[in-house]
Amino acid sequence: MSETIVDWHSHCDDDGILWLILDQRDTSTNVLSISVLDQLDSLLDEVSSNPPRAIIFRSGKTHGFIAGADVNEFLEVGSTQEALIMIKRGQSLFSRIEALPCPTVALIEGFCMGGGTELALACDYRVALDDAGTRIGLPEVKLGIHPAYGGLVRSTAMINPLNSLEIMLSGRALRASAARAIGLVDAAQPKRQIERAARSMALSPPPRQSMPLLGKILSLPGVRNLLAGYMRKQVAKKAPRQHYPAPYAILDVWSNFYGNKKRMMEEEANSVARLIQGNRVRSLIRVFFLQTRLKGLGDKKSFTPRHVHVIGAGTMGGDIAAWCALRGFNVTLQDREAKYLGNAFKRAQQLYSKRLKTVMERNAALDRLIPDINGDGVTRADVIIEAIFENVEAKHAIYKAVEPRMKPGAVLATNTSSIPLETLATVLKEPDRLVGIHFFNPVAMMPLVEIVETESSSEQTVQHAIAFTQHIGKLPLPVKSSPGFLVNRILMPYLVEAFTLYDEGTAPETIDKAATDFGMPMGPVELADTVGLDICYSVAKNLSSAYAIEVPAGLKKFVDSKQLGKKSGRGFYQYKNGKPVKDRDADPGDQKVIQNRLVYRFLNEAAACLQEGIVSDKDLLDAGIIFGTGFAPFRGGPMNHSLQEGVDTLVAAMVEYESKFGDRFHPAEGWSLLTE
Ligand code: NAD
Repeated sequence: MSETIVDWHSHCDDDGILWLILDQRDTSTNVLSISVLDQLDSLLDEVSSNPPRAIIFRSGKTHGFIAGADVNEFLEVGSTQEALIMIKRGQSLFSRIEALPCPTVALIEGFCMGGGTELALACDYRVALDDAGTRIGLPEVKLGIHPAYGGLVRSTAMINPLNSLEIMLSGRALRASAARAIGLVDAAQPKRQIERAARSMALSPPPRQSMPLLGKILSLPGVRNLLAGYMRKQVAKKAPRQHYPAPYAILDVWSNFYGNKKRMMEEEANSVARLIQGNRVRSLIRVFFLQTRLKGLGDKKSFTPRHVHVIGAGTMGGDIAAWCALRGFNVTLQDREAKYLGNAFKRAQQLYSKRLKTVMERNAALDRLIPDINGDGVTRADVIIEAIFENVEAKHAIYKAVEPRMKPGAVLATNTSSIPLETLATVLKEPDRLVGIHFFNPVAMMPLVEIVETESSSEQTVQHAIAFTQHIGKLPLPVKSSPGFLVNRILMPYLVEAFTLYDEGTAPETIDKAATDFGMPMGPVELADTVGLDICYSVAKNLSSAYAIEVPAGLKKFVDSKQLGKKSGRGFYQYKNGKPVKDRDADPGDQKVIQNRLVYRFLNEAAACLQEGIVSDKDLLDAGIIFGTGFAPFRGGPMNHSLQEGVDTLVAAMVEYESKFGDRFHPAEGWSLLTE
């Protein structure tokens, strides 16, 4: 083997099978970098001149086949031309694999994503390890692109397009058994049999996977166009084309060029070369790296809790407990009386039936969630989470009772949204044990958790809270103890601006449209209705004493008349079957001004938080806001967006809005930090 081939190992076994093993140097995860592909090219040169009996591709890593392409290399792509060169290189390499005269098998263990799956699709057969860690997918859409190394062409030619398109449009990764069920892999095997299965396919090749009849019918020209049209409408409900063109591009390439493989390959490449231009893909890659950064915070191994005790089984406590049990923890759930636990258990059951496949898994999760009116779990718990209602005296009483019974080293956490941790800690003998672990509602849906530290929280407590958050599969964001922490603080001026617009006579539909056109997942008015107007009012009032926020009178009127939003069936909107009834003919108003008013308040508060050091840097700020509020991910976060727009331009616009609409638009001092 050539000396330049350092990431691939190869050996020929006694049966004449050539094993090509990717084990990239100096990293625990294989990615298809340009260098890895170059080396594969050289290997294929050697193989083509002297073909073995069969080839099996596998990974030399303990976990994971290939995690995808090297996204860092995307960032270096300048022109469309450069992108095309890179893509066509990958396409022709995988086409070489496809054209090899000997049988080829991909043996997939662990993560197999994007380019990894495309390589596997270029092989004749795929065998995947049937375990909890194996995931197979084509998640490129999450980065604003789609498969470009022949993955779109090959997956839609091999399996029912309903399935292949769905996995590409959603970016969802499948377990081996699910991939087997749709024909994405030929076999899903346990560890002890996987090698044998791969060898047997290599040595006695069975008939190749072919498109099922239904798939063939759905791929017929007329049907294809109808199906693509239907799917475009479904996609539009979640991802508007102007902000997320990639899923539409997938459908366009498939519906326009399916059936002509050569042309479809070309269009697959052209389409991604177009998508990769501009800021969108860069911002989405940034989001990917921000997520990786949050996932890497703390040291998961430094703290391995087993038992969580949650006090308060209401909206938050109940769902936090259910989530922790879902993630494998033993959880005791305490409330004042048994009658307060019922709803929490009902919701837990609903969560488990959605998230867990088998009855056994669901029962096991329910078994881990234990009602505990007397609070016996306190003495055994590694983490105690207090989530009773927002009342200082009640929380103090709990802490006084709990602290003497806690295990040494156990973490005491509060889920409070608005009471200063310093106030809560006053009754503790060891205030350094208290930390905020601030979840968001709905717990199962929201990926972020704020880790709130005070001056007196010990480093160990904070680190343990971060490690615990990692163990339960949430993203920890360390924040300074300060009213509203990061997420609620930044959201509130934006929501208040929406309420002000409403009080001025702007229709809720118009306000929401301005925000969703910017890229917010939901408009501020609908968001407020969803959170509950009573909760919004109380958070706004709390924050108004700390910051110059004026709570608009209209909001209070809703609360006084018990119109609390979605939960009461009426708020800013009327709700039917849990959905807001919207007036399609609402006066559109001056959309640009409305959008600017909302967005400037949001960005300005973000700059103020940066100035005050609520989080340690602008990247963490962007991460917190994207994962805590859903802020337009393709803009890469409020700070990234402001830099892209030009801070000076934004500040000048805010000065203009200040003179038109009031002091609240006065640019925060934090902006200077971005221009330094
Ligand atoms: P909730 O009113 O839905 O539930 C509170 C629960 O605490 C009730 O079941 C109540 O019976 C129980 N409780 C009260 N006193 C108790 C005691 N002495 N011992 C045991 N149980 C007791 O409240 P919630 O909305 O779940 O809020 C809980 C905490 O989470 C608050 O601190 C709130 O600020 C915070 N929070 C709420 C949200 C939200 O959206 N609701 C989001 C983030 C954080």
